[in-house]
Formats: sequence, structure tokens, C-alpha cells
Amino acid sequence: MRFSNYFIPTLKETPAEAQIASHRFMLRAGMIDQTASGIYSWLPMGLRALNKVADIVRQEQYKIGANETLMSIVQPVELWQESGREQSYGEELLRFKDRRQRTLLYSPTNEEQITDIFRKYVRSYKDLPKNFFQIQWKFRDEIRPRFGVMRGREFLMKDGYSFDLDVDKAKQTYKNVFIAYLKTFKRMGLMPIPVCADSGAIGGNMSHEFHVLASTGESLLFYDKKISELDFDSQNVFENFSELYAASEDKHDSSTCLASESDLAQSRGIEVGHIFFFGTKYTKSMNASVTGAKGEQIYPEMGSYGIGVSRLLGAIIEANHDDKGIIWPKEVAPYQVGLINLSIDNDKCAALSDDIYQNLIKRGFEVLYDDRHERAGIKLADMDLIGLPYQIIVGKNSLTEEAVEIKNRRTGEISKIDRQSVDNYFKDALAG
Ligand code: ATP
Ligand code: MG
Repeated sequence: MRFSNYFIPTLKETPAEAQIASHRFMLRAGMIDQTASGIYSWLPMGLRALNKVADIVRQEQYKIGANETLMSIVQPVELWQESGREQSYGEELLRFKDRRQRTLLYSPTNEEQITDIFRKYVRSYKDLPKNFFQIQWKFRDEIRPRFGVMRGREFLMKDGYSFDLDVDKAKQTYKNVFIAYLKTFKRMGLMPIPVCADSGAIGGNMSHEFHVLASTGESLLFYDKKISELDFDSQNVFENFSELYAASEDKHDSSTCLASESDLAQSRGIEVGHIFFFGTKYTKSMNASVTGAKGEQIYPEMGSYGIGVSRLLGAIIEANHDDKGIIWPKEVAPYQVGLINLSIDNDKCAALSDDIYQNLIKRGFEVLYDDRHERAGIKLADMDLIGLPYQIIVGKNSLTEEAVEIKNRRTGEISKIDRQSVDNYFKDALAG
């Protein structure tokens, strides 16, 4: 993509309302635009990163056999009257009326809707298990929207829902999702801490929250340091995690804490995922049963599983930035490489830059090419702010030396690379 043709409204000044780094940099790098309190539009650069994150989430769901759906955003309130949540969900639920005076709501979550779909089509035990997910916009009328996309009112969530025949099978599904979540966050360059958030004693419910450590996180966590040494790819990763202590402030109790004093760490965290096993709450209240092998009526055991897809962009930037801007992990970077032509008025520099650009594009690399008529200082600062993993810097020196500078945004390290070897360099640097 040529910068001159692109829409990246970068800002030099820090917007006054942005209190944390991720919010500041998302606004300054032209990724998002605030429409209203807690409501954002995603501009081209932000959307690319959002889609990268969503794709990783999606791929890991496919791997555990979840069915991707896309439920309508608007639901009739009657579904929520059936489950009883119309009253209990409270003020976060946005309701409105259509022209026939029917009450509708903008989905904050979709347990009722998926249970309704399930009961219409699934009749026999033979059709179970079933696991669904979607990546869809949600609206919650949060009392205190803040920190940009971290706590928005409109936000993108991956929400998943599973139906199993009995509790043991449902718990196995829960475990599979737990492991898929670890892999999902790890692929984005994040180290998640799963925290037991047992939603209550009744019926042996299970619940975990997944937190990314960051000083600006809303939750205070107490956890065993050994968690960060666990092997995510081990067969027993769920059991290994379950043995180690991790609790949020409201659940932490030093008298029952399993971690030794020297192993207990304390840090703030951003909740990027939350999973629940809650049994037959919705299948019973909404009468979604299937027929068993002996003709008996079975209410499937359900779980629901959420990832804050748009919040993840904030979490990734909180964990990956410096004072100049964002430092994208390569897996989720909106582009892999930024190409800067510092001498825009020099025909030879322009020709060399064009040539490198075309060649990299042809080889399938994602390149943002800064071909603007701007001062070198502005271009270098913008590219650091945007934070693509690598920068290719072309200037007059490149002509005499037959080499270009390649800067690694994370380490700041600059290598001089023979212009013929640029694509091979990236083949290695961006592999894996
Ligand atoms: P929180 O305690 O942060 O309000 P929650 O328990 O209400 O979260 P869930 O209903 O479990 O959240 O939603 C699943 C995921 O969606 C959360 O783990 C979080 O990452 C994300 N999420 C929830 N609320 C918001 C919001 N207002 N803005 C952005 N992401 C959100
Ligand atoms: Mg909430």
C-alpha cells in the first residue's frame, strides 16, 4: 500500500482524553476514530490489525471443531424474557422499539439466541456435541467506558457456545477451549495468565478469566510465578495450570493461597478472555432438550466462551510499545514492512524504492510504502509510531553503497543489506 494513497490520519499531539499508552497510540497512529463515548470507528490501519487478531482467534476455533456462525446483532426481547435475563442483566442492556412498538435489543452476548437456534434444529442425542462461535459486534451500555477500545460500549467479541450430553463431556469441551485460548493468545505474542473465576458453588460451575499482564490493567492479580514457565504445548497443560495458584484481588485469600510466599507474584492484568461452564441454565429455562438413546429427555450441558477481540488490540499495544509508538508483534502487525523513501525528489531514490516495493509485493510481503512528499523526520517518526516490525530506509546513500538500511523496530538494530538480498532477508526475518 502506498502511503500517499492510504488513509492514516496520524497525529503529532497526544489527544487529551487518552490516559493510557494503547489509547494514545491507537489515536495517534490513525487506527481508530471516536464516534461517541465508548464507540469507535476502525480506520484502515486499525481494521487491518483487528482482522489479523480476529483471524488468529478464528483459526484456533476451527482447530477445535467449532462451527462459525454470525448471529444477528438485534434480538427480540422475548428471548431474554424466556431466560429471565431481561430483568437481571440490568442497565448494560440497550433496548429500543421498532415502528410496531416491539422491544428489541442490541446483543451484549448471545446465549439465548444460540439456544433458540439449537432447539429449533437439534432433536437427538446423536447430533451432540455441538460447538458454535461467532466474531460479532456487541453493545453494552457500560457505566464508565474508558481507555479507548479496552472498555468500549460497542466492541468486537468472539463468543462461543457449546452443547454436550453430560457434565463430563462438557468439562472436556471446556478444557479444549481453555487450551485453544492459551494457543490463541500465545500466537499474538502475549503471555496469558488464566485465573480461576469460579462463578459460584452451585452445580459445580467452572470459570476462568485470561489476563494479559500490564500496569494499566483494571484487575489486580495474585499468581504463582511458575505459571510463566509452563509449556503451553504440553499434553497436560490444563492440569498443570490448575495446580498453580492464580486469583484476582476479589477472590484472593492469603489463608488458602497455594503458592509459597517467594513464588507469589502480584501484577495488574487486562482481561482478554473469559470462559464458563454453567450446565443446563439456558437449555432448561428455554426448553431446549434432545431425545436420548432410550427416548428420555436430555437437557444439554452448556458452556460459553468469550474473547475481547477489539480489547486485544489495546492489550497487545500495552504490552508492546515504547515512547515513540507501537511495536507490533509480527503475527498481528497491520503490515510486515514499512518502506521509507527519504529523498522523494531524487529520481533514482524513487526508482529504487519503487523497485523494492514491487519486488516485495510480488513475493507476497505486506508493505506500507511511504512515498509521501514529506520531510524525512516526519516520515521516520510516523513509521516508528505506526510500529511495523521492520523498516526499509532508502536515501541517497543507498545509491552509492548499493545497500539499504533495514531497521528492526523492536531492537532498533539497523543492518545494511545489499538491495538484491532484501526479499531473502525478509523471508528469514518474517518466517515462523
Ligand atoms: P469485564 O469484567 O471486563 O466487564 P465481562 O466479564 O463483562 O468483562 P464477558 O461477558 O465474559 O466479560 O466478555 C468476554 C470478553 O469480552 C471479556 O473477557 C473481555 O475481554 C471482553 N469485553 C467485555 N466487556 C468489554 C467492553 N466493554 N469493551 C471491550 N471488551 C470487553
Ligand atoms: Mg462486564
